[in-house]
Amino acid sequence: MILDLSLKEMEEYVCGLGEQKFRAKQLFEGAYMLKNLQDISTLSKSFKEKVQKDYFSYEVLAHLKSKDGTEKVAIKLSDGSVVESVLLSYKYGHTVCVSTQVGCRMGCKFCASTLNGLQRNLTSGEILLQVLFFNAYLGGTLKERKITNIVLMGCGEPLDNYDNVTKFLRLVCAEDGLNVSQRNISLSTCGLVPNIYKLADDGFSVTLTISLHAPDDDLRKTIMPIANAYKIEEILQACDYYFNKTGRRICFEYSLIEGVNDTDDCILKLSKILQGRTCHVNLIPLNSVKEKKLLGVTRKRAYAIAEKLQKLGVSATVRRSLGEDIDGACGQLRNRLGGAK
Ligand code: SAH
Repeated sequence: MILDLSLKEMEEYVCGLGEQKFRAKQLFEGAYMLKNLQDISTLSKSFKEKVQKDYFSYEVLAHLKSKDGTEKVAIKLSDGSVVESVLLSYKYGHTVCVSTQVGCRMGCKFCASTLNGLQRNLTSGEILLQVLFFNAYLGGTLKERKITNIVLMGCGEPLDNYDNVTKFLRLVCAEDGLNVSQRNISLSTCGLVPNIYKLADDGFSVTLTISLHAPDDDLRKTIMPIANAYKIEEILQACDYYFNKTGRRICFEYSLIEGVNDTDDCILKLSKILQGRTCHVNLIPLNSVKEKKLLGVTRKRAYAIAEKLQKLGVSATVRRSLGEDIDGACGQLRNRLGGAK
């Protein structure tokens, strides 16, 4: 698919078709604006015929708008798979939350994305498509980008799709691509330890976000199966490595589940494991997922917990929950048809 290619690769592709190299730029620009191939007026009919089979196709099955301004789309890909992506608009800019897999195999007990298991990995171009969709929707182009930030926090585990995800990062950060700075990208993982090291060794410096959700391995195992593979201590060591290599502060996500991980004992333990580390804790009252029995704490309780962590010397804030009324908030994305409630 054309969106999997960098500009240089597109030049090689175009030359391979027996066409002139400069056509690649025209094709690239048109594709980045998500134009129909037929509507790229600079390209000839015969050129388009050659490219047609490699061009992308997608269909927006649903486009929902939350009362808080958050928007969610369900995009049908060429093979019929459906991915959901979210646009979050703030005073300072626009953030796109992208999915990295169709479904997810991590099996976290509180998350909607994993309900039907993993269907398949997304390609780099399919991840990029989600960013391009909202960029074009906001009137942006390749050069005049409207999207300021990207978070890999939709459906799927990014480090379980390492090659495609890192290719996506290269594409979206390329100077002749959307030219997004790695500083403005957050990658969230439930903690696939070897690939955290790999990410650092491969020279990436995106903000690393760890879905922790529990202060000890026993509790973590009851809500996150991945905890059977990697200990919290191993994750923290990998985080230290990442921090030392990139200088980027690590974020820890902690979704507060009533009566499960919100006790005083849990919060004290959490502060102990994080003390002395350059990191930040994002607290989120668990968002409801109708198939799941777990409940979130009140926002008031979340603020009290943030204060407690601060007093214990750990930087912590409560994340705003956006898009909950359209099932667009953390842990609510899935790959169901239509994306409607
Ligand atoms: N697989 C990656 C990317 C998903 S990001 C990861 O685990 O980090 C989505 C974030 O929302 C993760 O921190 C996830 O643990 C969290 N989450 C999942 N279900 C949630 C829910 N119901 N309420 C609040 N947060 C949830």
